[in-house]
Amino acid sequence: MTDAPMVKETGIKRMTWRCFGLMAGMILLMVQTGCAVLQFDNSYYSPRNRERAVRKTTSLIILHTTEAPAASALRKLRDLGECHYCITGDGKVYRIIDHRREAYHAGRSMWNGRTNVDSFSVGIEVCGYHNKALTKAQYRALADLVGELKSIYRIPDQNVLAHSHVAYGTPNKWHRRSHRGRKRCGMLFALPAVRKQLHLKTRPAYDPDVKAKRLVIGDSYLHQVLYGKNFTGLTGVPTAAISFPKEDNVIAVGRSAWDIARDAYADASTTYIFPNGTKKRGDEIADFKFIPPGTKVIVNTETIADNRPDNYQVISATCKASDIAGDETLLPSTLYIYPNGRFVAGNKLNAASVEKLPAGTKVLVGYAVGGPITATRPASAFCGNRWRAKDTFFLFYGQLVPGNKVDDSKIPAGAYVFYKG
Ligand SMILES: [Zn+2]
Repeated sequence: MTDAPMVKETGIKRMTWRCFGLMAGMILLMVQTGCAVLQFDNSYYSPRNRERAVRKTTSLIILHTTEAPAASALRKLRDLGECHYCITGDGKVYRIIDHRREAYHAGRSMWNGRTNVDSFSVGIEVCGYHNKALTKAQYRALADLVGELKSIYRIPDQNVLAHSHVAYGTPNKWHRRSHRGRKRCGMLFALPAVRKQLHLKTRPAYDPDVKAKRLVIGDSYLHQVLYGKNFTGLTGVPTAAISFPKEDNVIAVGRSAWDIARDAYADASTTYIFPNGTKKRGDEIADFKFIPPGTKVIVNTETIADNRPDNYQVISATCKASDIAGDETLLPSTLYIYPNGRFVAGNKLNAASVEKLPAGTKVLVGYAVGGPITATRPASAFCGNRWRAKDTFFLFYGQLVPGNKVDDSKIPAGAYVFYKG
């Protein structure tokens, strides 16, 4: 609460934030916004606010579903500063990050060729699930909030997107190329019937990054929901009646561990129950291609960071560069960091030499290089405020250190910074 910047705003914009002193607990701020009254609850205002940069531009509003109950979601969103607002089932709107600052909500993301969607969007989390109807109170509160943000930033309806519109994944065991479909977060916000509740008249007609061949479709079901004609038939259906087919959590022909668990497929918190009843954690499975059909996959949604850091992957005897980077193995945006601390970009290697990289070589896919860092050219000179993001990495003394863990006073001259390009 005391972190609230003292600014003059109307609605969100014209209100004067006041510190109500030592009053403990919840404080509701009432804001007159023409016909609607937007109330904010500041009891989960994030301590991360002060370290977040003010965005230079804002052209998208990104809608998320928490995929977890409100209490745990709010705590995590506050602690990590992962959205601007969170709306609980009773329609209460919690302010997490000041809407003008950057929140880390979109993770690896791209829209119309522009990556790092956090740097040009406002992110709203709605407590609920990507394939379940929300409460009437949530639709009402979200409609008011989206309406207010649209008017502040002059954002057209087709730029109000679901997280699943913009999230993308780099190559993995199932996809040779960077792909759309890393998550289904907020998927229901693409449905015309839901958009109607939010007073949104249009939605994007196609995926601009798939069209431009920057990405391939990694989840054809999601693609159908976001753009397909099948789902537009829901227009006019009462929103409470919306239901999606149940998402099966059993591995079958054509339904892989990735289809079920997405990027959490190899996590310790993901459990595989084999047809014979034995259980294994995701991090105990050596070969995901040999999981028998009928295996159940239990994903612990409460432990998944919606916005997980993109950690680097490591080359080993059984995991070669091409297993990690797929068709992006020889691109300049794929970086290989040798065990001795030197690094090379994929375009400086060839098909033969890349397979000979030593075990222990770290791999970053979809990154740009800044450096060398000097006293007069700090990391921010190369990548702006992204230098302290958790998916940015610093290379010095042979170590890769994430931006959110680095002590900026200890970054030596000559270090390099790798940030999502
Ligand atoms: Zn999300």
